[in-house]
Amino acid sequence: MKTEQDMLLTQLDRYWECFECGRVIDDPSLTKALETAGMGWGLGVPCPKCGSTVSKSKFPDERFRPLFEMIVECCQIERAILVLILAQIAFEGMLDNFLRRLLDRMNCPEDISLAITDEVRGINAKASFIKSLTGKDIKKMIRDVGFKDTLKQFETIRRKRNSFLHTAKGKEDLTRDDIIAALKFAYVTVDLYAALFSEHREWRPLVEPEDNSY
Ligand SMILES: [Zn+2]
Repeated sequence: MKTEQDMLLTQLDRYWECFECGRVIDDPSLTKALETAGMGWGLGVPCPKCGSTVSKSKFPDERFRPLFEMIVECCQIERAILVLILAQIAFEGMLDNFLRRLLDRMNCPEDISLAITDEVRGINAKASFIKSLTGKDIKKMIRDVGFKDTLKQFETIRRKRNSFLHTAKGKEDLTRDDIIAALKFAYVTVDLYAALFSEHREWRPLVEPEDNSY
């Protein structure tokens, strides 16, 4: 299983998000330049897409690193149920971040967007909130960026997790294959959100800036 575990952790050092154009970029030479630049969030290193030298940040957010490391640790001790639950948390956490970025790009203050994402719980509630913000169906958005099976995988993990939790013995058929499938799902989750963030990055301010020209 070593390969899948290692691959999952490499996902955390692969993508950078440009604060200027909002794209999430997978470019080994950019990664190298940013790592060499060290501190300062890559200020001065041009974005290969828009050329801007403003700051960039790792994608997904560093806050996800402990979660992914925990997924790998739980694989090593073969706690399948924990791998499934953590993979699900990673998916939902990144969906929260996507939702928060949509709000951010509508100039929604951060404390309000945090309050909203805390209140809008569950994947269906989040999906319908995204629909009300953008007019778009998250399932279609996900399919359109090329991940047509990912939600099905999410459902499979959720179903297996529930059946494990709801059986008295608590060992409902979770196998090594389920661990591998959950690892791959977590891996693809990073690619999926990198694509979603890049595709849906337009600014749609709720309130236009005041015109101070007169
Ligand atoms: Zn850029």
